[in-house]
Amino acid sequence: MKELKDRIRRDGIIKSGNVLKVDSFLNHQMDIRLFEAIGQEFKQRFSDVEVNKILTIEASGIGIACVVARSFDVPVVFAKKTQTKNIAGEVYTTKVESFTHGRVYDVIVSKEFLGKGDKVLLIDDFLANGKALEGLARLVEESGAQLVGAGIVIEKGFQAGGKMLRKEGIRIESLAIVESMDEATGKIVFRGED
Ligand code: 5GP
Repeated sequence: MKELKDRIRRDGIIKSGNVLKVDSFLNHQMDIRLFEAIGQEFKQRFSDVEVNKILTIEASGIGIACVVARSFDVPVVFAKKTQTKNIAGEVYTTKVESFTHGRVYDVIVSKEFLGKGDKVLLIDDFLANGKALEGLARLVEESGAQLVGAGIVIEKGFQAGGKMLRKEGIRIESLAIVESMDEATGKIVFRGED
């Protein structure tokens, strides 16, 4: 998606530890006009499948998932990160290791909002090592719902997540795949470009 790649090149900041900061339009301040274009792009890419629910993970996925959901005209469910242990029974639960915070969270979704018969599209802002997406896929599986695919705004193609999850059979559509980024020069190379 050219508009997104141009924006990443213009406003993205490369930090140490393979972190790309896009706080000015995606992760802190949010450019809703760009989000709407992203929503339409996902709608088009997944036009061959039925989607009745979007699932994301708090916190940074929620904003983009809400706008994407308008394109599909479906509700959004966000998996909650929690410390509470005694919640089994009413929720699906799994563990997710956070890339940005380096710790493991329990992640839950209420059984009320996900289950058999749902056709679920996962949405997230970033795909790095794939732990967040893998956790969401596990919750969908546990619920008996059908996973139709995952829409990712920025995939870091030099990290392992995309390859691993595609190998597991998950259909992933990423709007910008960063092949390499150089903290010293600020140069970002996207897949399919020099
Ligand atoms: P993963 O589980 O695939 O390793 O990481 C995905 C999650 O970590 C995303 O939901 C995102 O919030 C965060 N994340 C991973 N890499 C980056 C990055 O380079 N920049 C930012 N801003 N967030 C990232």
